[in-house]
Amino acid sequence: MTQGNMLSPTVKLNSGHDMPLVGFGCWKVNNDTCADQIYNAIKAGYRLFDGACDYGNERECGDGIARAIKDGIVTRSDLFIVSKLWCTYHEKERVAQACKKSLQDWRLDYFDLYLVHFPVALKYVDFAVKYPPELEDEFGAVLPFGSATNQETWTAMEALVDVGLARSIGVSNYNSQSIMDLLRYARIQPATLQIEHHPYLAQERLVKYATEQGIQITAYSSFGPASFMELQFKMAQKCGPLLEDGGVKTIAQRHGKTSAQVLLRWATQRGVAVIPKSNHLTRLKENLDCCTFDLEEGDMEYLNGLDRGLRFNDFVHYGYNVPVFA
Ligand code: NAD
Repeated sequence: MTQGNMLSPTVKLNSGHDMPLVGFGCWKVNNDTCADQIYNAIKAGYRLFDGACDYGNERECGDGIARAIKDGIVTRSDLFIVSKLWCTYHEKERVAQACKKSLQDWRLDYFDLYLVHFPVALKYVDFAVKYPPELEDEFGAVLPFGSATNQETWTAMEALVDVGLARSIGVSNYNSQSIMDLLRYARIQPATLQIEHHPYLAQERLVKYATEQGIQITAYSSFGPASFMELQFKMAQKCGPLLEDGGVKTIAQRHGKTSAQVLLRWATQRGVAVIPKSNHLTRLKENLDCCTFDLEEGDMEYLNGLDRGLRFNDFVHYGYNVPVFA
């Protein structure tokens, strides 16, 4: 480890494993710069990397990690690597196959955490035909639903733990109803729930329910519209940048921190893990340093009051008429 670098605090998952509270998100990290970014993030002190088959950059993430291990900056056991099962691989015979393909790309023999990316099964697309398949087949036609139930998929996820391909398993984009159902049949409880979570979409009741079940929450898109402005989402452009909110900026100034750190601290102070993504070294370091100060009660109240139920990461906003969150 590089001397003097900050490391994230960790939380104990219900699987018994420790997970860093602050990690690095790999979505939209460009393939040509990805290996370097992962390498630099490790040098800056990041230990958790949140990837997915769907991000299309797992090989490059693996390159960055291999280089950091080779250079003696970290060992495999210092790292906490997360990947996600894409919707086209929900059938029981596909789950391990998809996990092994991702592991091969990362050049790892186990994931610290493997998540069901969405509670939506889409028709299988052969790995050799299109990878990652996203939401369309090789001819650009929107994929129809697959036949797997969430129970079938979860049972196959549990088998990954049994054979050591994943140390912990969890879910993403599940609502309370799907979790209630899952808990009826789960032999292994989901360790984490990864959801869109920022002051514009606090999902307070879901966070409370899942936390009460012993499931650790991880927030994605902590800066709200910022990530979706990049994608030219009209609703993101319309609502105005959360990072520029006057109240957020005032809180940041009072604490001698940045707006980004305030938004991340709003989550981590309540025990919610965060996985911000940045391409810039200064921001990378700044984001990791979001647990070293405390927001006051009034700050939290202000941030809680910004909730507008604004969900950006919905299939429908990408032009696919799959009402996942309806
Ligand atoms: P994010 O909230 O981390 O925001 C990224 C945007 O904020 C970028 O535009 C970046 O330039 C900017 N930014 C980053 N740090 C900043 C700083 N300190 N100051 C100012 N601007 C800053 O968005 P995200 O990438 O959507 O979410 C983070 C991660 O969550 C993803 O990379 C991915 O790993 C995960 N994720 C998961 C899902 C899911 O369905 N499970 C969906 C979306 C994202």
